[in-house]
Amino acid sequence: MYSTIKTAILEGIHTRSIQVEVDISSGMPAFDMVGHLAPEVREGKERIKTALHSIGVILPAKRITVNLSPANIKKTGTGFDLPIAIAILQSLGVISKEACHGKMFIGELSLNGQILSVNGILPVVSDGVENQIFEYVIPKDNEGEGRLVSKAQVYAFCSLQEVINFLDGKPYKTEYKNIEEMHRGPEKDFSDVCGQKFIKRACEVAAAGMHNMLLIGAPGAGKTMIAERLAAILPPLSDEERLELSKIYSVCGLLSSKNALIQTRPFRSPHHTITQAGLTGGGAVPKPGEISLAHNGVLFLDELPEFQKKTLEILRQPMEEHKVHLVRSLGTVTYPANFLLLAAMNPCNCGYYPDMKKCRCSESGLRRYFDKVSQPLLDRIDICVEAPTLTYSEVAGKDKSESSKSIQKRVLECHQIQCERYKEERFFHNSHIPASRLEEFCHLGVKERHYMENIYLKLSLTARTYHKILRVARTIADLEQSNCIQIRHLKEAVCYRSADKKFWGGGSL
Ligand SMILES: [Zn+2]
Repeated sequence: MYSTIKTAILEGIHTRSIQVEVDISSGMPAFDMVGHLAPEVREGKERIKTALHSIGVILPAKRITVNLSPANIKKTGTGFDLPIAIAILQSLGVISKEACHGKMFIGELSLNGQILSVNGILPVVSDGVENQIFEYVIPKDNEGEGRLVSKAQVYAFCSLQEVINFLDGKPYKTEYKNIEEMHRGPEKDFSDVCGQKFIKRACEVAAAGMHNMLLIGAPGAGKTMIAERLAAILPPLSDEERLELSKIYSVCGLLSSKNALIQTRPFRSPHHTITQAGLTGGGAVPKPGEISLAHNGVLFLDELPEFQKKTLEILRQPMEEHKVHLVRSLGTVTYPANFLLLAAMNPCNCGYYPDMKKCRCSESGLRRYFDKVSQPLLDRIDICVEAPTLTYSEVAGKDKSESSKSIQKRVLECHQIQCERYKEERFFHNSHIPASRLEEFCHLGVKERHYMENIYLKLSLTARTYHKILRVARTIADLEQSNCIQIRHLKEAVCYRSADKKFWGGGSL
């Protein structure tokens, strides 16, 4: 007898629907699975046979053929076990065709018939609903993410036997409760950071215009502490952004079963030993990398010169396009990757340059150290600042500085201005204004033009640096809700280029 069941496969953070077909006919006893299957899908045969056996279903001595169609797409992942088992049971007449009608099944089986969680349930349900499929049978551990899609009816089970009982007419009961994350731990707040007023202001400007930033400073200047607080001053996530972000985490299997929605902007801080695949994504079954997990949030690269140059090189394309394309043998997978890059580094190998009394580095050593940071990456960084070592009065100072909440309020207003200004455009933030449109969005008056001409000559700027100053000045003006860019805005923007002048000799950034 022939039967068919719906399931789906991941493609990036989207899915494609797959039909499981099973035919049981008389002939030499055999169990064949076809349809361009990856090894983990083919191995499913043994899991399915044993799981069926464990609930008392003995396969007849007949010819069983399983096909996953369309056959031109490679089937990866372990979510096909459950739909195949259901299709077999339907072919055997254990469950009725009507009971499975209109439902999509996904889940991995263990040998004793338990249903194990799989990655990517959220995109499966969310895309399925758009294709008019409203009922889903999924693993219990994935129930939280399945329920995020309000239009879908989700049935989550622990075992194959429970699914059979349900399809046989037993009413579905769930005790699922969405537990809001209550214990988030103490919020990291900017008011905890002593001193470093200039750096905090630079962070505010970076967050306001989504400008990438490089922080240079001796060990102990508080670089990491500042970085950890940057994501919290970005505006709160919109509902759409939450869902998109949760889909990425779902594909990676990183959603918690109790509270599946990602509520806060991510802060990702990969170690410098990370591989290319770890950073941008990849693997036999493709998975998003750190840059996608940092989507709509902050990617922090501490000890920037310690990263492999090649690893950093591959950041160029995603930083331009805000998504990453992974070329696979069977086509391209695309993941979103729109992040604010915050990089940090010591001013030299020993950490004390330019304090020549303490610095033990040779001149060639210094050169080598700075050369480790690739030029094309530096080209994509708008704000470059130096974090000074704290003075005694700053360390001992008791006055609390401004809280993240009140900084976030200004950043949010600035984002709203940009949202309005760029509503017809293909970009959303000042940092992404194309060079060809700068005249239009960062128009300078006569006085301002004259000022910039002087600066251009005095600091021997490059065109690229000049453009960055304009974009940052636009953000600073927006923070003041000023329509025109004024000299004080330009002056501040020029300040955010002083550190690279000192360390890379100016012309480089
Ligand atoms: Zn040194």
